[in-house]
Amino acid sequence: MMTEKEIGLKVRELLDDMSVEEKIGQLIYVNGGRTGYEGEYIEHPYIEEFYAGTVANLTGTEWANKLQERVIAASPHKIPAILACDVIAGFRTIYPQPIAEACSFDPELMERDSELIGREALAAGMSMTYAPMLDIARDPRWGRIVEGAGEDPYLGSVAAAARVKGLNKSGIASCAKHYVAYGACEGGRDYDAALVSEIELRNTYLPPFKAAVEAGVDTVMPAFNDTLGIPMHCNKYLIEDVLRGEFGFKGATTSDYNAIHELINHGVAADRREATERAFDAGVDIDTGSLIYQEHLLEMYKEGKITMEQIDERCGRVLALKFKLGLFENHYYSPEVEAQTILCPEFKAQARLAASKSTVILKNEGKLLPLAKEEKLLVVGQLADDQDAPLGWWRCLGEAGDTTSLLTAMKEKSENIKHISGGNLIDGEPFDKEAIAKAAQDCDKIIAVVGEPSYISGEAHTKGNIVLPGNQTEFIEFLATLGKPLCMCVIAGRPLIIAKENELCDAVVYPWQFGTMGQGVADVLFGDVEPEGKLCVTFPYHIGQIPIYYNHVTTGRPYRGENVEMSKTVSSYATDFTCHYIDMPNDPLYCFGHGLTYTQFEVSTPRPVNDTFKLGESVEVDVDVANVGDRKGILTLQLYIHDVAAEVSRPVKELKHFEKVHLEAGEKKTLRISLDPKSFEYYHFDRTLHADPGEFLIWAAEDSAHGESAKFRLV
Ligand code: BGC
Repeated sequence: MMTEKEIGLKVRELLDDMSVEEKIGQLIYVNGGRTGYEGEYIEHPYIEEFYAGTVANLTGTEWANKLQERVIAASPHKIPAILACDVIAGFRTIYPQPIAEACSFDPELMERDSELIGREALAAGMSMTYAPMLDIARDPRWGRIVEGAGEDPYLGSVAAAARVKGLNKSGIASCAKHYVAYGACEGGRDYDAALVSEIELRNTYLPPFKAAVEAGVDTVMPAFNDTLGIPMHCNKYLIEDVLRGEFGFKGATTSDYNAIHELINHGVAADRREATERAFDAGVDIDTGSLIYQEHLLEMYKEGKITMEQIDERCGRVLALKFKLGLFENHYYSPEVEAQTILCPEFKAQARLAASKSTVILKNEGKLLPLAKEEKLLVVGQLADDQDAPLGWWRCLGEAGDTTSLLTAMKEKSENIKHISGGNLIDGEPFDKEAIAKAAQDCDKIIAVVGEPSYISGEAHTKGNIVLPGNQTEFIEFLATLGKPLCMCVIAGRPLIIAKENELCDAVVYPWQFGTMGQGVADVLFGDVEPEGKLCVTFPYHIGQIPIYYNHVTTGRPYRGENVEMSKTVSSYATDFTCHYIDMPNDPLYCFGHGLTYTQFEVSTPRPVNDTFKLGESVEVDVDVANVGDRKGILTLQLYIHDVAAEVSRPVKELKHFEKVHLEAGEKKTLRISLDPKSFEYYHFDRTLHADPGEFLIWAAEDSAHGESAKFRLV
């Protein structure tokens, strides 16, 4: 691999010989128009006319090679194209969707998944993916919550770095998106404005992007929305000053689809020429989908509105990426390698492991789980044998036919399974109560598989009422009358409002959209693999609580934790003047970090090794952990802090560390955990990043809602 310096020299040499038209071509993206092995290949004239530098959605070696041949033939300097595609949860082998994978709380897994995802895409001729998606999201109505790592900036940053590192290892380019605060869209409505303060932006939404830059992300995609009052595709402050200036990002930015043109709709550009001017000036290098840069950049250059230095800088970033990827030497792909790589056993094994680690057990009364192979099980629900729903929204070339449904996976483990689907519950069609009741008579347990079909999640799929669709709630209510232990498994891309169903079921499992390998979920259900999934996002108890997240800031009148009765008098004495709802608790159904195992752990209050620590030094604490159950298990230990008297309002709790501890039944350990000095830093009102001296609280626990705090001071 070439060094940065060698790449710089190569780029300069090439730029010195290229025409301005060729250089602008590198900033142009065209849609190849083919996203499947069956699609049409489009003879896009822009490849010859404008030397387009990026071509998207042309997958498979046959088409990739054909395209590269055309590009090389047209390009005076034989510059190959970047072949880009949204390879998010997998290329053909589909892994759990990112929100699910983040519930593993396992950066090694995320890195490995991304590496294998990238390798499969590379074998099919891809050179870049528009991933990872780093948007912190706290509103499950937003359909794109499925694409990110949940609500927490620390977990989000760990996931960002892991995913970028994995893609870097694979040999395809990564793209951190959507920069920034896309997940904070008003009301959860996709594309709506993010009305966040700069402090909130810096401390919550920017950290995953900073982590991605530090991990060596190749490109960054600005978001569709406006943030701090300015649409991101002309937000020079956030792109040039913050992303490049402060974070040191050196790669190319690539616009979101048609988003430069949409500056007109945002009301910040009168026409396509002005939209081009604003986006280029703000630092958007590649025009994805607007077909606008080739219309206007040349004329802007000829008029002296932009300089050759500017064009060289932008084009140079794209060329540098092509050198880094080795595209100049290798841009043809082997169909034989492709055939051996797609869906190969190594990838399927990893996708199965990922599905196990991402499955979250929310409730398990009466030890309903793990299931025993000798038990007679009745598996019901429309999604039990569905091969499409588990794949989710971003599935690239993933096919339902390759997917092992949850039912099939369970049948691979046990011969004692009866199945009744219940019919089309999602469209609310009536189900055969008599047949189900009869089948239930001689079974030991009922497993109901419910949730959302894949098309309900993803881009532009905001839902106002995020309950189980159709008559699935009525279905669960009916099953609960049959007098058998009832377990509900929910296949979905977002936290749904399931308080009522949760109450009626003995066990509740959330395998999310688990991908190709249902076996991974069955491994957990039958206890062949120990459960370790933890929620990366809060589960609301009621829609009215949204947005809801554990790390909200303190207020002057904090919620007192009790369910406050609605006052029936106007007397101020009868009213509780605290931050709460009068008709429902503030508490969620399940908190961030929650997830059960098949054993029980005890975690001690952390013991800071000193009462005071110097600012800028690590803080060390000891924590005793014990497996007090009768089975081995994996404890996902979580450390949270609170800055008691800070300069600005700070979260009531902030995750700062997590680790997996494998413990045999009865085993105990004392862990010494060292928190990096950065753990206590945050962005202040003057935009500086530092820690405040003073008192801190610290918790060690299995989730964000439990544990006793200890104190220490930073001096
Ligand atoms: C999405 C991006 C995606 C792009 C290109 C857009 O609609 O917002 O996430 O990468 O399309 O396919």
